[in-house]
Amino acid sequence: MNRKFVRAVFPGSFDPITNGHLDVINRGMKLFDELIIAVGRSPIKNQLFTPEERVEMITELIADMPGVMVESFRGLMVEYARRRKVDVILRGLRSLTDVQYEFQLAMTNRAVAGLETVFIMTSEQYGFTSSTLIREVASLGGDLSNLIPTGIYERLQQRFDKLRNRN
Ligand code: ADP
Repeated sequence: MNRKFVRAVFPGSFDPITNGHLDVINRGMKLFDELIIAVGRSPIKNQLFTPEERVEMITELIADMPGVMVESFRGLMVEYARRRKVDVILRGLRSLTDVQYEFQLAMTNRAVAGLETVFIMTSEQYGFTSSTLIREVASLGGDLSNLIPTGIYERLQQRFDKLRNRN
């Protein structure tokens, strides 16, 4: 049977990308023909890394993943998805708390743009990993070796060193 080519988008802040995100990407790339990691440029979220820096970090990590690409987008995610002719939105789930928010988001995206969302559950070991907590722990010098790639940890340390020197 001929199967349709399926292009998925994995949107998020990725500030910074974590092993939890990478776990979802690794699983997602097996389900879809093309997977675009879409870094949101949010005007209201307080961000540590610029969208360009986040895209650069992700580019290095996905270099060996066939069919996976990264770019940033501005504005409404569903508008971006329409422009890029995306078939499916991919989101990751960690806990029941995620489900409540993601459910609302998925319903809204389906209502306003007719876009379906596919959810992938993270590995147990990343069920509590969030970029927000990673930023906090890194700012206090904690060990994050199991939760983020080494290169990302180094970038975080450099960023916090720079911020500390400024204050
Ligand atoms: P957003 O600001 O859009 O929530 P995030 O970068 O925080 O962006 O998350 C992007 C997606 O990745 C979301 O679907 C989120 O639930 C998922 N995600 C974040 N951390 C993890 C994790 N540890 N395991 C699985 N999915 C995750």
